[in-house]
Amino acid sequence: MVKKVLKFGGTSVGTAERIQHVANIIKKEHSAGNKVIAVVSAMAGKTNELIKLSKEISEDFDKRELDVLLSSGEQVTCALLAASLIKLKIKAKSLMNWQIPILTEGEHANARIINIHVEKIDKYLDENGVVIIPGFQGISKNGDTTTIGRGGSDATAVAVAKIFNAEKCEIYTDVDGVFSTDPNKIPVAKKIDKISYDEMLELSSLGAKVMQSSAVQTAMIYDIPLEVKSTFTERKGTKIFSQVNIDYSKSVTGVAYSKDDAKITIIGVQDKPGVAANIFEPLSKSQINVDMVIQNISSDQKTTDVTFTVKRDDIAKTKKILKSNSKIKYKEIIHKDKVAKISIVGAGMVSTPGVTYRMFRALSDEDINILAISTSEIKLSVIIEEEHVLKAIKKLHTIFDLD
Ligand code: ASP
Ligand code: MG
Repeated sequence: MVKKVLKFGGTSVGTAERIQHVANIIKKEHSAGNKVIAVVSAMAGKTNELIKLSKEISEDFDKRELDVLLSSGEQVTCALLAASLIKLKIKAKSLMNWQIPILTEGEHANARIINIHVEKIDKYLDENGVVIIPGFQGISKNGDTTTIGRGGSDATAVAVAKIFNAEKCEIYTDVDGVFSTDPNKIPVAKKIDKISYDEMLELSSLGAKVMQSSAVQTAMIYDIPLEVKSTFTERKGTKIFSQVNIDYSKSVTGVAYSKDDAKITIIGVQDKPGVAANIFEPLSKSQINVDMVIQNISSDQKTTDVTFTVKRDDIAKTKKILKSNSKIKYKEIIHKDKVAKISIVGAGMVSTPGVTYRMFRALSDEDINILAISTSEIKLSVIIEEEHVLKAIKKLHTIFDLD
């Protein structure tokens, strides 16, 4: 008898019909003798709809009440799913965050799960019941309903898997798993069977959104193996676990990209301690997310050029902040919008020499100019003109044997 946490995302429970399909998946697991805790999201689009509704009342909707409002989406799914199971003659019940309880800490809309009481649920599992619980929410020390950030049902599932000591944590979604690149853009993209937490994090932060990144991080810290799989097919999903357990035959696991980037260069800034901090501190205070940063070697020992990337939407704001920054002196600020970041990701890269030059050669073969480069142990990213994105992904996908 295996204890399993099954998490179903918004599209998986998007209609009454789909919820009944999910009930059948749970029935199968239950009939196979597993103890099942199901964690559910709100029906697809529901949370956004509720946010929109709140804005009709006020753009500055009370934070406590917003959490009460948003948590209702998951409550609806819980009841519909539990009743679907009961209709299939499975013993099942929903438990809300305060009934369990799921305890959280921190501010509204952004709380963290710190503990979950196991007694009630474990007892019900022992009595051969299936428990359906809401993702994305909890209850604070004062007894207020809290939510834990958008996409937070993944975090709930991982926390439940940890606290209940579950053998399996399966994340059911609307795709077959994690792909070697965006399957909507590159038809030869392949589903990855096994991937490490680190690679998954690199791929998802780079735009391959399958799971909430912070949930993957938590799973990594506690070494909780995950499996991402589709609700709608019977295909095997992608297993996510620690690197040591993966045997790498390929140096590169996936090619990720992010569009809507822009590149800014500050030419002729003074080359002395504190300058970089003076440039970036006001940007971070204004919530501008700076991604790649490159500083050139100073040829005259006095001035240098600093290049960095931001989201394209932030470019005007960024330039304004730089220009009004009295702490920095420079010759000129130039920018290029319509750039994109392409990254190859692979834990196998560490042990394979030549990956770097093969990437650069491949891009030059396609006549693609590299505007900036950054590397980490398992990732190599370049900035290129956005118009070349597809061509670049295709080429890299092919030369690193991912097709
Ligand atoms: N319903 C919440 C959201 O849309 C949580 C989740 O689906 O994971 O963000
Ligand atoms: Mg979600």
